[in-house]
Amino acid sequence: MWAQSWSNVFDLVAPEAAAPGYDLTEILRERQTSEREMVEIAEGFFTSLGMEELPETFWRRSQFLRPRDRDVVCHASAWHLDLDEDVRIKMCIQINAEDFSTIHHELGHTYYQLGYRELPPLFRDSANDGFHEALGDTISLSVTPGYLVDIGLLDEEPPAEADLSLLMRMALDKVAFLPFGLLVDRWRWGVFSGETPPEEYNAAWWRLREQYQGVTAPSARTEEDFDPGAKYHVPGNTPYTRYFLAHILQFQFHRDLCAAIGYEGPLHRCSIYGEEEAGRRLREMMAMGLSRPWPEALEAMGGSSEMDATAILDYFAPLADWLKERNAGRSCGWS
Ligand SMILES: [Zn+2]
Repeated sequence: MWAQSWSNVFDLVAPEAAAPGYDLTEILRERQTSEREMVEIAEGFFTSLGMEELPETFWRRSQFLRPRDRDVVCHASAWHLDLDEDVRIKMCIQINAEDFSTIHHELGHTYYQLGYRELPPLFRDSANDGFHEALGDTISLSVTPGYLVDIGLLDEEPPAEADLSLLMRMALDKVAFLPFGLLVDRWRWGVFSGETPPEEYNAAWWRLREQYQGVTAPSARTEEDFDPGAKYHVPGNTPYTRYFLAHILQFQFHRDLCAAIGYEGPLHRCSIYGEEEAGRRLREMMAMGLSRPWPEALEAMGGSSEMDATAILDYFAPLADWLKERNAGRSCGWS
């Protein structure tokens, strides 16, 4: 609805010469993986890094399924009830690849919460909002075909020519998200500062959508409509720049951790599954909580103390090369 993920146009833009990858949704359904098993698989990734098992109360008090007897907010979230060990997630899990990745995202929050629980209460938070959102996504980047073979979800790795398809699928999520991630708070800050008056709320929204995302509304919009209000985080009063930052940080974390384990191949094939050194660095960062300035937390991962979006370019380099060739002589974009 917000064009924050473009994965649904994959069939239109899929590299036709490239071998198809695999369909995780199909695999999960064929194997009749349950909702709880999906959470257990994600927990298994974290414990492979030397992190603790989730407390018994997590399994008893979390909501994995949409309740049959009442209406609930299904938007996935992770909760730290007592700022100690009472951690829970709330989801209405569907058996598909998107929710598989969302579960890793939410458990990233959960493990961060457990990681900083020994600190004084005021420091029991991430180094900045972006860190909290980036952690689970970093783990998701390690859900590579090789990893899926390791845990028995995939029989064999797809051929190397499938990489382009897999990267395209990933880019339609992660790269297409960046402009959207930026514009939600651009709009909101305009509203809060008064620069955008109430009679322009919807028009201002669509100006940003066109400017950053290059999309227009499918039908004429007026000030009778309030389209930004359809995005959960706007009425929910959840800041949004955190997701923009997280989409940069997760690739940076991934690159730092892959370097830390001595990995030298293409970044998109690196998985930190079972790598203790990667786990040690992640735990060190999480244990710092909010007690140090975020550049120090970033440094704990082993790389720079500055945010650096070049890790995105490194990760998608094979796809970028292919696109450059495909688009040679064309003029792309919008004014
Ligand atoms: Zn989150």
